[in-house]
Amino acid sequence: MDTENVLLVDLDDTLLNTSKIKEDFFNNVAAKTNYPKKQIEEIYKKTKNKNGYKNLLENFLKNIKRETKNDIKENLFYSKVKKERLNKDLILILEKTKGYKILLTEGDRKIQSKKIKKLGLKKIFNKIKILNDKKVKFITSRIKNEKFFINKKEFKKVMIVDDKAEEIRDQISNREWIQILTPVEFIYLSEKK
Ligand SMILES: [Mg+2]
Repeated sequence: MDTENVLLVDLDDTLLNTSKIKEDFFNNVAAKTNYPKKQIEEIYKKTKNKNGYKNLLENFLKNIKRETKNDIKENLFYSKVKKERLNKDLILILEKTKGYKILLTEGDRKIQSKKIKKLGLKKIFNKIKILNDKKVKFITSRIKNEKFFINKKEFKKVMIVDDKAEEIRDQISNREWIQILTPVEFIYLSEKK
């Protein structure tokens, strides 16, 4: 990959098995509050729908306290964020991949920063970008004259690795210079080289 290319890699459920982390966390919250997991997940969904990503964990824990009268500490979530939950195959390939690499993730700034720091992901990437807004909207806003602009640089080719590749493909109209791959597809392509 030369400098004209940029690789945009997603965090949740691409580099990190966030679904599993959330599941472990919800199980623990359920156990500590004596509330069914379904109900805990409902409170999480409601919090996310109402307030979005901003202060998501704090708001969720506040709502848990209000509804269940149980005080759950933030650390119960962060203790689940472990290197063992990383996609090791993908990490290995990214470490070997040359060129400009950006970790592009949607979510609460504080949660994402803490996760990234704890997982030591900074050293793999040239840039970390945490979005409050929808990823597709951000990507689209950075396209001009069939080039991609980010971090005061311009790129003629973009490769996106995201577990929601299909969704992104549907929303970004067909451009042959933008390649959108699932982690599995990216690993497969890289190993074939
Ligand atoms: Mg994702």
